[in-house]
Amino acid sequence: MQKRKVVLTFPPSLIDQPVTYHLIRDYDLVVNILKAKISPKEEGRLMIEISGKRESLQRGMNYLQELGVEVQPLAQDIIWLEERCTHCTACASICPTKAIAVDRKEMKISFDKEKCIACELCVSVCPYKAIEILF
Ligand code: SF4
Ligand code: SF4
Repeated sequence: MQKRKVVLTFPPSLIDQPVTYHLIRDYDLVVNILKAKISPKEEGRLMIEISGKRESLQRGMNYLQELGVEVQPLAQDIIWLEERCTHCTACASICPTKAIAVDRKEMKISFDKEKCIACELCVSVCPYKAIEILF
């Protein structure tokens, strides 16, 4: 069983399509909608947590891409606002993937987006709102 947080971007022509319904029914996936920004005649965005067997997830992702839905890991939407950061390191100790690392010599943190799995733990722990989700 695998779980991913992704952002789906729909062109206007697909906004009315029951895409999440198909993911659940036809691909045997569990879909949890976390946020949605959809307005008629405009591009829509859906933040979802999706889980299921590895093969089912792959098939579901292929279905979305063939349909013309852009799929992007939520981690791409996590941003570190360095100018707000005081390098208190509170977030580094809870980051499960070491996407946030501390340079012990300089006592400064750095953020590696490629390692981020968008668990959002750092977002809630940061007292200065230096980590945000762009959605
Ligand atoms: S969202 Fe999770 S994985 Fe990504 S930087 Fe924050 S704590 Fe680390
Ligand atoms: S918790 Fe916030 S202020 Fe502290 S190091 Fe992390 S991003 Fe910077």
